[in-house]
Amino acid sequence: MSQLSTSLTTPIYHIPGVREVHAQKLEILGVRNVGQLLAHLPHRHEWLRAQAGIADLQAGVISSAEGEITATKVSGFGRKARFQAVLHDGDGRLDLVFFNQAFLQKKLRVGMRLRVQGKATKFGPGLQMANPQYTVLDDDTTPGGVEDDAYRPVYPATEGLSSERIWEIVKSVLEPAISQLEDHLSDEFRKERALPSLGETYRMMHAPEHEDEVKAARRRLAYDELLMLQLGVHMKRAHLRRTLTAPALERTPEIDERIRGRMPFTLTAAQQRVVDEISRDVALTTPTNRLVQGDVGSGKTAVALDAMLLAIAHGHQAALMAPTELLAEQHFLSITEMLKGSSVRVELLTGSMPATDRESALRRIASGEVDLVIGTHALISDRVEFHSLALVVIDEQHRFGVEQRAKLRVKGGKEHESETPHVIVMTATPIPRTIGLTIFGDLDISTIDQLPPGRKPVTTKMVTREQRRTVYSWVQDKIKQGDQAFIVVPAIEPGTKGETKVTDLRSLQKELEGGELHDVKIAALHGRLKRDTREHIMHRFRGGKIDALIATTVIEVGVDVPNATMIIIEDADRFGLAQLHQLRGRVGRGEKPGVCVLIGNPKTEDGVARLNAMVETSSGFVLAERDLEIRGAGDVFGTRQSGAPPFRVADPMRDLELLQMARRDAADWIARSPELLEPTDALVRRRMLKAHGQWLGLGDVG
Ligand code: ADP
Ligand code: MG
Repeated sequence: MSQLSTSLTTPIYHIPGVREVHAQKLEILGVRNVGQLLAHLPHRHEWLRAQAGIADLQAGVISSAEGEITATKVSGFGRKARFQAVLHDGDGRLDLVFFNQAFLQKKLRVGMRLRVQGKATKFGPGLQMANPQYTVLDDDTTPGGVEDDAYRPVYPATEGLSSERIWEIVKSVLEPAISQLEDHLSDEFRKERALPSLGETYRMMHAPEHEDEVKAARRRLAYDELLMLQLGVHMKRAHLRRTLTAPALERTPEIDERIRGRMPFTLTAAQQRVVDEISRDVALTTPTNRLVQGDVGSGKTAVALDAMLLAIAHGHQAALMAPTELLAEQHFLSITEMLKGSSVRVELLTGSMPATDRESALRRIASGEVDLVIGTHALISDRVEFHSLALVVIDEQHRFGVEQRAKLRVKGGKEHESETPHVIVMTATPIPRTIGLTIFGDLDISTIDQLPPGRKPVTTKMVTREQRRTVYSWVQDKIKQGDQAFIVVPAIEPGTKGETKVTDLRSLQKELEGGELHDVKIAALHGRLKRDTREHIMHRFRGGKIDALIATTVIEVGVDVPNATMIIIEDADRFGLAQLHQLRGRVGRGEKPGVCVLIGNPKTEDGVARLNAMVETSSGFVLAERDLEIRGAGDVFGTRQSGAPPFRVADPMRDLELLQMARRDAADWIARSPELLEPTDALVRRRMLKAHGQWLGLGDVG
């Protein structure tokens, strides 16, 4: 087969000169045809200098040089054995070291001429190359190494298939392959944005002539990734807006007054602003999709309740979803309390309810006997049918994936397929703006940037494990004065490492009861307890019948017991920053100032950084930024935004400008061609759907 007939779909096995073993290795790397080979991008490039005299070699640069071996030796034994040689070219000396290759002693001898290639590093007063590639020069060897300076791509390789071999294969098909690449962006569009064509891009990525070419190619690839995602998100949004409607929930003066009358306090200015933003949204039939972010204790529940009462006032249903059963139960208690004496019927729906209770609750929800449903994830399970669901609040969004939100979209009133509820998502973990734009490109954002009045500050202290006893003696003293405490132990995620958490809680309880907290009423609370037991314990703690609660992170979000002033966190370095901040938010909610004690002897740098950040600031927004610095954006993407595909080239933090450009371009594009069905959009549409169609649920769009 000649190169002329090489196409993007040509199997690797058919590329002339590619050995079968190498083709097999490429398959392991996910490369089966020429197109995929082009897409197998170098992860970096090495600067390859033309052959230099030894005296001109520079540290840190990959270079080649020639000289005569003037000395050799083997040192070390067995697996540590290494072969060393000295190379001279008349002007300079280069030390060579070959680890683990004592056998070279037999091959490379004093007096031989050698050409080596590798990265020179500083070694004493001179330079050294470790494990260089080498050629023994004899009279037959063609002279000269690399003749010109060049960039060499370094590919993700695998055992038995080196980066150089991949480079050779890529080189053999590069020209015919890139000449067949179709660009999904028009010349004009690219010119306006100074973006190279796709063909040029892949040429510059695989065979750059200059460092700037790698940059230009990277920019185009990153832009494409961001554009595709933004097109997907905007197309989805446009589709929903066009095909789905939500009930218009107008806020009349009468309704406004009734809702205000239900609130036991006046809203803060920030809460009022967000309530206004939501009211404006939900007054329209366009489904609302709004993110409300507000630090721990900023009063998000009141804002949620306000919106839900607005839906109920219009004769519809509302639902509040919490990440844990404990939080759902707590919302149920506090909201029932606030709505005492009103005609609003509230129902709690959780996964652990007895089947018969659940069945009857589901019946009441479907018939419309229930106005307000509070629950956990169970609420989005397929079996819950609402009579007329107009508004959904998802509390503490950081626990929910994008996919779950998509699922939620489908449920609405049962009469009309096209009816969907307004959705409000609440989080205390502020989403850094760049990430918000990328993944939640379809969300509007409101921020509650103020705490309710009279909030007492929380002091945070960091102590070592050796100081635990002093801490608990102090806890006992404070409890004698009428305070209450949370004691938190790192939980092992259910389903991962087993049963340790319950026993850990028990043994800590025993230890404390037999020691510093001997006069204190202690109870243990964890996720495996039955709901009744858990409610009973929380009820007694709230009522002051229990002084100290030893708990796993089930108390992390939302637990509201104003008389609890102390939170002691054991092995605090094992918690994430967002979690620690959430936990700290459990205290300082009442009349008295709160104290948070972090016990731990952090073993990692990150652990120390997290605890220091906690001591230094009480702002969730500052902590979120710190968290991002400590963990890096990739991790935030990987763990939190499940369902969204990661980027290969783009880095939304670094490529902020590109991201904004892609966002604008995508918005304009979708405004012009809402489903990308213009003939000129065929290619971009196909590529976008391939990348994002599935997770965005866009399959049904066309
Ligand atoms: P979060 O934003 O963490 O969910 P909550 O909604 O649980 O915060 O509110 C924290 C506490 O603040 C609750 O006890 C709540 O009753 C109280 N609260 C909320 N808004 C106000 C307000 N405007 N004035 C006084 N107290 C408020
Ligand atoms: Mg809350």
